[in-house]
Formats: sequence, structure tokens, C-alpha cells
Amino acid sequence: MAQAARRRELGRGDRVLPGVWRLRLPLPWPGVPHCNAWALAAGDGIVLVDTGMHEPGSMAHLERALEQVNLRLDHVRLLVCTHAHSDHYGQAAPIVERAGCELWMHPDHEHMRRTLEDPKAALAQRLEVARMSGVPEEPLRAWARERGSRGPGIAGLVEPDRDLVPGVEVQTDLGRWSVLHTPGHAPSHVCLHQPEQRLLISGDHLLGRVSLFYDYGWTPDPVGEFVDSLEKVDRLGARLCLPGHGRPFADVHAHVRANRELVDERVAAVAAALGDGPRTAFEIVPEVYGEGLSAANAGWWLQETLCYLVHLERRGEARRLAGEPERWEAAP
Ligand SMILES: [Zn+2]
Ligand SMILES: [Zn+2]
Repeated sequence: MAQAARRRELGRGDRVLPGVWRLRLPLPWPGVPHCNAWALAAGDGIVLVDTGMHEPGSMAHLERALEQVNLRLDHVRLLVCTHAHSDHYGQAAPIVERAGCELWMHPDHEHMRRTLEDPKAALAQRLEVARMSGVPEEPLRAWARERGSRGPGIAGLVEPDRDLVPGVEVQTDLGRWSVLHTPGHAPSHVCLHQPEQRLLISGDHLLGRVSLFYDYGWTPDPVGEFVDSLEKVDRLGARLCLPGHGRPFADVHAHVRANRELVDERVAAVAAALGDGPRTAFEIVPEVYGEGLSAANAGWWLQETLCYLVHLERRGEARRLAGEPERWEAAP
């Protein structure tokens, strides 16, 4: 049993609809065992949406998944990335090189480029944010050691040949897919929409299981941007969603609502935590999530909480008090 549990998952390909294949690629992350790339039939080849993460053996997983649906890397005529996170963009460089295709992606990918160009500076910046948020030194050092030993999951920097912005269309055998800019999860995030078939490729904006994540520090209000992006997607009336993780799902509207409710719940919990006087973000975390920061959730919950605080600040409901660490209080 233990051995079976340790056995690594393999890349797997399945046909979801005529001309649409799901490529399920393993991830090394606890709780997120795989991500999806999507292959869309386009003439004598395919459009590949997303790439999987770059790590030892990862290209073999992608090739295996393609092979299971009788496709190969040299069928890729165009690579499209929903956003510049490692699990969606990590293998872009080798795919573009081997397939000889273009990459289309949204231009607001500085959040990835800066980390890739200077990982030490990016880590130092995150540590500074954590310190200012009240995280104690010792767990922070342990977290930094572990983080510093991990690679970025991205093979190399490759700039998009074309900016994937509203107005651009991706041509496939199913018809044209239009581009929706859906920032919040990441500044570079887009969804693709096929109106006649009412299909949505949602990246990490909308998943089968509600799971919130925002890139902190790149845009003024990631939570507000995410909520606006949810409304935008809701108005499309898509009937089937092809997400960046997990199985395709119908009832897109119910998933939008569930995301919206969880955002509202967490914003309210952060606001309530400020009711008892000034707090650091670190002190607020256990009141929102029911448990404190740990190595496993540190990369996630602290920035999420900071995003809610910034969101409340912009709504005029919270303000930050200068000092180290930085404390927040309810606005009078
Ligand atoms: Zn992502
Ligand atoms: Zn993802």
C-alpha cells in the first residue's frame, strides 16, 4: 500500500469532446496532484492550452498524455497559456522550441518574469512581506530554507509572440475562441470562450472545487479584480467548463456563485477580526481559516489575507498603521 501511494502519477490523455482532449499532468504539490493542459483540434494539428510544470521527467508526462490520444508534440501549431504560473507555463520554452510554434499569453506576466530573472530577490521580497505582517523569525527562516531549495518549476523565460488580450481570437476546428482578461488569481490570467459550443477554458479562475488564490503585490486589489472577473465569466452563460485542475464541469453559474460566497465569507471574517483592535495579518490568519500559519499553508494564506486587507482598505473599511510589524484596524 505504502509503495502504491508513493508511486508517482503519470501523464494521461482523454478525449472530452470531439476535437477536445484533456491532458492530465502530475504535479509535485501536496493537495494538488495534477493540472490539465487542453489539446484542441486545429486543421492538421492542435492548439495546446497550458503546459504543465517543468521538473525532472515532466516532458515525458506530456508526451505520454499526448500519445494516449494519438497526438505528438510536433502537432502543436500554437501554444496558448491561460496565465504565467509554473503549472500552466512551466514547459512553454521547450514546447515552443520543439514544436516550432508561437506562444500567445497575456502581457501582464511580470509576476513570473521577475521571479525567474532574480529568484533570490523575489524570495527576499516575500520574506520581507511576511516579516512586516508579523510572522516570527524562526518559522520564517525554516520556510525560506525550504523555499530556497526548490526550483521555479519553469524551464526558461519565453516571451509571448502575441499578446493574448481581448479582441484576439484562437482559431480551432470547434470554432473561434475569444479571450477574456480575468485577473485576480494572477495578473496575466485569461479565460477562453467558444460562444457557439458554449465552452469555457477557465485556467485557475474557476475550478470544480472552490479554491482561492491571489497573486499579492502586483495589482491594486486582486480580490476586487477576481470578483469582477467572476461576473464577467458569469455573463457568458457557458455550459461546460474545462478547468486548469480537476474534471470538466457543467453548471458554471453555480461555481461562480460558490466562489463569490467564499470570497464574501473571508472578507467578512477578516473585517470581523479587526473588530477587537489593531492586528497583524499573521494574527488574523487563524480567525479566518480556523488554524494558524504553518509551513504547508504559509505561501498561500498569508498573501490571501493581505489581499483581503488591501481590499477592505480600498473599500474604506480598514486602514494600516505604520510600524514594524504593520498592524491593521477597522476604519472608523
Ligand atoms: Zn495559477
Ligand atoms: Zn494551476
